Amino acid sequence: MDTYKRLPIKIVRGKGCWVWDQNGKRYLDAVAGIATCSLGHSDNALRRALTRQLNQIQHVSNLFEISEQEALASWLVDHSCADRAFFCNSGAEANEAAIKLARKYGHFKRGIEEPVILAAKAGFHGRTLAAISATGQPNYHKGFEPLVQGFEFFTYNDFASFEKLLKQIENKGPRVAAVLIEPIQGEGGINTGNEIFFQQLQAECIKREILLIFDEVQTGMGRSGNWWGYEHLGVEPDAFTIAKGLGGGHAIGALMVKQHANFFSPGDHASTFGGNPFACKAGITVATEIERRNLLTNVNKRAAELNDGLIAITKSFPNHLHTVRGLGLIQGLVLNEETTITAQLFTKAALNEKLLVVPAGPKVIRMVPPLVIKASEIEELLKRVKATFRNIE
Ligand SMILES: *Cc1c(COP(=O)(O)O)cnc(C)c1O
Repeated sequence: MDTYKRLPIKIVRGKGCWVWDQNGKRYLDAVAGIATCSLGHSDNALRRALTRQLNQIQHVSNLFEISEQEALASWLVDHSCADRAFFCNSGAEANEAAIKLARKYGHFKRGIEEPVILAAKAGFHGRTLAAISATGQPNYHKGFEPLVQGFEFFTYNDFASFEKLLKQIENKGPRVAAVLIEPIQGEGGINTGNEIFFQQLQAECIKREILLIFDEVQTGMGRSGNWWGYEHLGVEPDAFTIAKGLGGGHAIGALMVKQHANFFSPGDHASTFGGNPFACKAGITVATEIERRNLLTNVNKRAAELNDGLIAITKSFPNHLHTVRGLGLIQGLVLNEETTITAQLFTKAALNEKLLVVPAGPKVIRMVPPLVIKASEIEELLKRVKATFRNIE
């Protein structure tokens, strides 16, 4: 169906940070399947592990115990603030699980008849009906009303806006069950969370017994330079969702919860494919390879080079560029108000320089390369960004 405005190239092969189109042209990939291909394309370790897994067993159902799922859950619990995991197949599904968890908490632990979830304007939580309802961007809602009830929005990084909304919603007594928020807003334009705001938010949530749920679908699994985005903010959520980078390009998502937020009982939630041996083998391989190859260190080093280079480019094209935002290998080059260049226009023009980037909203050029990107490839990326601007300015 016509659900996507596709770029006119067909990608048929990939290796590391590079992909080839059907005509054999080679592109530097700063999209990485939209922040999913953490280890790059056709990674040897992932290829070997998944080939072995295909030869062994692919899918069994959650009617049975699954050792690969247990291994991935253990790894995630050992490397995060969470104690338990529920596995599904995508970011939106992970957030659906989080929303159901928040509502169950509201009803059964807080005795709220109609629990409300507060979310941030310009946030993004996925494309299912509940996930778009939680998404604070009206353009994702249009044509799909009536939306799922029980979501209200405050301004990101603005504690006064949060407090005002909370007061308004709770004027006749407690109604707010949870806050759902990204530590860095991805689709909304690479807005990095403000430490003080998040600490005030957490304090308020603790005081009022509101669950603090982070959407780490884009930021999680090392992309930000730490394993989790929340580590940059000096707070720990009660629950968080992950997906994009977890499977290295394979479909998997998860809802992670601390023990005190472990409210689901058998029968409450389920997924046919969720946590299957193949997807979990992908997840555990990505996780252990990031550790074995010290990729968090690589992310931080490459991020500094990328950030410096992008700031320099911003200064070279002041008529078009405003600033650079992001953390680790999720960075956004922000176009200014005056320029007629849009992120979409830049993305198309970058194809001529054999560079793949992805817009985050109309005015932000997003770069989310594989976590394995090398210094020489960052240099090449910056050269191609510069060349693209020279061509279109
Ligand atoms: C991409 C994304 C989602 C949706 O993930 P899907 O796998 O496309 O359903 C949700 N939240 C955030 C923050 C995302 O970046």
